[in-house]
Amino acid sequence: MIGAHMVKLFGTNGVRGVVNKELTAEMALRLGRAIGSFFNGTVAIATDTRNSGPMIKSAAAAGLMSVGANVIDLGIVPTPAMQYYVRTHSLSGGVMITASHNPPQFNGIKCADREGRELTREDEEKIESLYAQGTEIKAWDSVGTRTYDASAPEAYVNAVIGHVNADAIRKAKLTVVADCVNGAACVTTPMLLERLGVKSILLNADPKGIPNHPSEPTGDNLKDLMFVVKKEKADLGTAHDGDADRTVFVTDGGIYMEGDESLAVMAKFLLSKKKGLVITPVSTSSMLEDVVRKAGGKISYTAVGSPAIAKAMHRDNAIFGGEGNGGLIFPEHLLCRDGAMAIAKMLECIVTEGPLSEQTEALPKYHTVKRKVYCPDRLKDALVEFLKGENKSAKKDTTDGLKLIYGDGWVLMRPSGTEPLFRITSESKEKDAAVKRADETEAKAEDYIRNMDRSV
Ligand code: MG
Repeated sequence: MIGAHMVKLFGTNGVRGVVNKELTAEMALRLGRAIGSFFNGTVAIATDTRNSGPMIKSAAAAGLMSVGANVIDLGIVPTPAMQYYVRTHSLSGGVMITASHNPPQFNGIKCADREGRELTREDEEKIESLYAQGTEIKAWDSVGTRTYDASAPEAYVNAVIGHVNADAIRKAKLTVVADCVNGAACVTTPMLLERLGVKSILLNADPKGIPNHPSEPTGDNLKDLMFVVKKEKADLGTAHDGDADRTVFVTDGGIYMEGDESLAVMAKFLLSKKKGLVITPVSTSSMLEDVVRKAGGKISYTAVGSPAIAKAMHRDNAIFGGEGNGGLIFPEHLLCRDGAMAIAKMLECIVTEGPLSEQTEALPKYHTVKRKVYCPDRLKDALVEFLKGENKSAKKDTTDGLKLIYGDGWVLMRPSGTEPLFRITSESKEKDAAVKRADETEAKAEDYIRNMDRSV
């Protein structure tokens, strides 16, 4: 939820809200001014396919120009295509009008820095304070210009193709079913598949404001994709979210791959070519760590969220990183989630390593149990401290919430950033152990909250 009275505008994925309720043209204009003052130079702007995209974009662009920023309008493009454009054209920054996987009534605004990376929290705070203060607008003869450039999708796709063995992919004559979710992927994924010489079957490939199915790429939303992959005996199924930074996969048998499985398969393949470091959040299954170690690589963990992963990848010179929601990061191309790179690399992986169903089947197996516990915001820190004291024997990691690590698995307790609750994830090789630890943690947390709530 956002509103002019709040100082914190940016959530985990930029500023987001229901259009003309929480996110208005007036806000976009004011935010455009703040962003323009922050970047102080030429800025690219782009949208996904939402109905409100032109309205929010026009308002944000007017704000940018009013403080003297020159605006290059890229049209409808995936977020990573905008990020690639900003980096390769040496711009000061980029603005993406998107609410990613949220329903069509939502929209949002997020920014990329000159390297094409998502902004750090510190930079977002600078924009928020410019927004709160209000920014000075320029005289009539110093306002910014607006130009249009339709080259971003093609430039992005060509760059992606340059990072894979395209000849080997073309020779393999693969069949791919791609669900573009009527989103930004419509302008890049069909082009990518065509240029890589695969036979493509496209679903929901017409860009439109109201997608044919919800744009969060979960198994439940991708039943048609799984059906068509199986029926057509395709080698791969793939789908994106609304702004096509995230990518998920369906195996040649028509089975939806969990995000952690995609990470593990990809890490194994990349490590077979080059040893190095893989970075992922503490919430990722140990399946990935097992695979990375066996392949001779190293792994390190960050807090949840792609900016934290990208930052650590940059600092520690990682070869690959990603999170379990379909966000895969390939640093040789961009330090952000990269929908088209994920597809191209997965095709190369299939050509080199064999059918995805077999690769997935060979992964280590873990059992995961997820729970939610109510916890008022004011008790979140205290609950973490309490649980730390309650679990003296386990190894502890406090990168994000509290992770208790045992010989056969772990429990992660993370406070939600937006809701009054704690998320509990319990993973183990043994199903009973995973359930037992989730039960125990949930019961302890509930007891604690009940007692504390009563005591105030
Ligand atoms: Mg997204």
